[in-house]
Parts: sequence; C-alpha cells; structure tokens
Amino acid sequence: DHYQTPDVSKPRYVRVNTLKLDVDSALIELRKQYMVEKDDLVPDLLKLPPKCDLHDHPLVMNGSVFMQGKASSMVAAALDPEPGWEVLDACAAPGNKTVHLAALMRGKGKVIACELNKERIKRLADTVRLSGACNIEVFHSDFLSLDPKDPPYSKVRAILLDPSCSGSGTVAERLDHLLPSHAAGLSANVDETERLTKLASFQKKALTHALCFPQAERIVYSTCSIHQIENEDVVKSILPLAASHGFRLATPFPQWHRRGLPVLEGFEHLLRTDPVEDKEGFFIALFIKEEGSVIHPL
Ligand code: SAM
Repeated sequence: DHYQTPDVSKPRYVRVNTLKLDVDSALIELRKQYMVEKDDLVPDLLKLPPKCDLHDHPLVMNGSVFMQGKASSMVAAALDPEPGWEVLDACAAPGNKTVHLAALMRGKGKVIACELNKERIKRLADTVRLSGACNIEVFHSDFLSLDPKDPPYSKVRAILLDPSCSGSGTVAERLDHLLPSHAAGLSANVDETERLTKLASFQKKALTHALCFPQAERIVYSTCSIHQIENEDVVKSILPLAASHGFRLATPFPQWHRRGLPVLEGFEHLLRTDPVEDKEGFFIALFIKEEGSVIHPL
C-alpha cells in the first residue's frame, strides 16, 4: 500500500536553479500544473504535494529546477558562501550541492569540485553542464592528496565536505536498519560495524584535512547517515584540532528543531533530519573561524 510509505506521503521538493530561472517565474510555471509553495526554511526551495513526479518536466530537463530533497538542499545553504569567494566541494559527485553552491554565489567567484571516482566524474560534469554554471572547475583527484598550501586551494574560503557515508538516512536503507538485529545475522552485523568504522575513519581524515586550508573560514560537514559514529563522533573527535585552528561550531538553521545527539559539548549546534519525519536522515555540522581567532575553547 503506497499510502503507508513515507516516500510517497511526504511533500516533494525542487530547488530552483537561480542561475537559469528566478523563483517567482518557477512558481508561476509550476503552478500551472501543481499546488506549489515556497519552503519556509531553505531559500529557492519549492514544496509540491506528495507523489508529484517531475522527472520529465521541461524545467527539470533544462536544468531550471533540480529535484533535490529538503535536507540535501540545507547543506550548501548552511555553508552560505559569498559571491566572489573560492569554494571547495571536497567530495562532489554527482554534484547536486556543487551547483547549488554556484547558484548561491550567483555565478561569481569559483567552485572547485573535487571527485575521486572516475565514473562519478561523468555524472558530476553532466550536472555542472545542466546547471549552466560557468565558474565550476571539476578536478579528478583525491581530496586527501590536495595540498592546502598550493594555489588555488590556498585561497579557498569555504569547504563543503559531504564524504562517502553509509547512506543509512535514506529510506531504503532505513528499512534494513529497522530489522531486528538477529534477523540480519551476526556476521552481517560484524560486517556492518566494520564498514561503519572504516567510513568513520575516512570521514575523520577528510574533516581533519579540511581544517588545514589556510584561508578557510567556513566548513560544512554533512552525511546522509543516521549513525552517531559517522556524525557526532566524527565531530567530537576533531573538536580539539578544530579549536587549535580557530574554528568553533556554529548553528546552521537555528530555527530547525532537530539537533545533534547529546553526546558532546555543543551538540545543540549540530543539525539532524529524521529519515521518517523529514523523509531523509541527514546530519550537518558547521564550523566557523572568526577573524582574529587563533586558539580558543569551543
Ligand atoms: N555532495 C554530492 C551531492 O550532493 O551530489 C554527494 C557526494 S557523495 C555522498 C560522496 C562522494 O565522495 C562520492 O562521489 C565519492 O566517490 C567521493 N569520494 C570518496 N572519497 C573521496 C576522496 N578521497 N576524494 C574525493 N572524493 C571522494
């Protein structure tokens, strides 16, 4: 019964690609077919009724709007890069957040989109092309091997770090996680624990690396995972290093009610979305370096 699944009973979202179309024109166009309203939290995000399928809508086909969930659209908005900045998207493919960054920067400045996986680079390049953004440079590289002191990275002011994660916040995966643990079998649990530990180890390395970019003053760390080990635990482990670089946790979307798990000091700054209630399980942490700050407690 489709009406029971959260996937179809929750609103649909599209993000207007303001590089190609303004929000009001998108509203007028989409209202010819659907009941559409602006989202109350994320700028440029439009909310449509459940079950609307926009896959082959002309505005989607021509890159004027992107089908992007609310939680996913919160990430680049949380980073809030200024037009004219140099911004690094560390793990970029398929590029939904990359092109969102370019739109927020109104096409001014530069977005460096780094991606390790050759196959996924193609999808990233397609997304960039569809968006019409002219200020995105795609780099096929391991983010961990970028030298923060090398130009052009030395000028990077903001970093979006959305690394590989378990994906446990997506609905399909969530259903697996709701299985009683004995149903999955002991060896599956061991494998899963090992997988999460490996992912968390990479996530910590990547966040540690992001902290080393000399001009970076805003860093967003995000996952589509519900697991503490990939979220709060990663943030907690790098807090002392972050502080030594002059970073503190800041509060993305303070009006949002769902915050981090209370397992570290400053958890209320962290943002979570719920896989059932909010349709996708996301996690966002925002680090800010204030001018003149060197070493101070978080
Ligand atoms: N931000 C993307 C979006 O919104 O469309 C999704 C990013 S996805 C969660 C993570 C990406 O990081 C994958 O495409 C993966 O291939 C890439 N990746 C993994 N390790 C990497 C590394 N060391 N350097 C660069 N990219 C990496």
